[in-house]
Amino acid sequence: MSSDCIFCKIVKGEIPSTKVMETEKSYCFLDINPINPGHLLVIPKEHFTTIFDIPDDVLADLISTVKKLSEAVYKAVSAEGINVVQNNYRAAGQLIDHAHFHIIPRFSNDGFLTSWPGKPANASDLNAVKDKITSHL
Ligand code: AMP
Ligand code: ZN
Repeated sequence: MSSDCIFCKIVKGEIPSTKVMETEKSYCFLDINPINPGHLLVIPKEHFTTIFDIPDDVLADLISTVKKLSEAVYKAVSAEGINVVQNNYRAAGQLIDHAHFHIIPRFSNDGFLTSWPGKPANASDLNAVKDKITSHL
C-alpha cells in the first residue's frame, strides 16, 4: 500500500469504485472517465508502480483477468473491437502511479487513437535497435 495512492484506496474500499470483479491478486472496476461505456481498469491489489515492478505470478493473474473481462465487455456493449492499453511513466501517458491495464471497447469512428504515426525503418535500423534490446535480455 502506498499511503496516498488512489488505486490502493479503491482496493481497500476507502474510495468508492464500480467494482466488476476481483480475484486473489487483481481488482477490476469501471474507469470514471471512460473513452467509451464499459472502459475497465484491471489493477493488482498490491501496489506496484509500473509493469516492470509486478512479480510474474501477479502479472499472470492480471493478464488472465484482462482476457476474461475483455471478452465480457466486448459482448456486453456489442463492441466492434477492444484495445488493451498499459501506460508506464508520464511520457507514455501514465497519470496514476499504480500499474493498471485499460480495457477499452472500440467502435468505428469513435475518435480514439485516430493516428498511429509509424515511421518507416530500414533493415539496418531494425537490426541496430534489435541488438540494443537483446543486449538487455
Ligand atoms: P493512466 O493515464 O493510464 O494512468 O490512466 C488512469 C485512469 O484512471 C484514467 O483513465 C482515469 O480516468 C482513471 N481514474 C482516475 N481516478 C479514478 C477513479 N477514482 N475511479 C475510476 N477511474 C479513475
Ligand atoms: Zn497503489
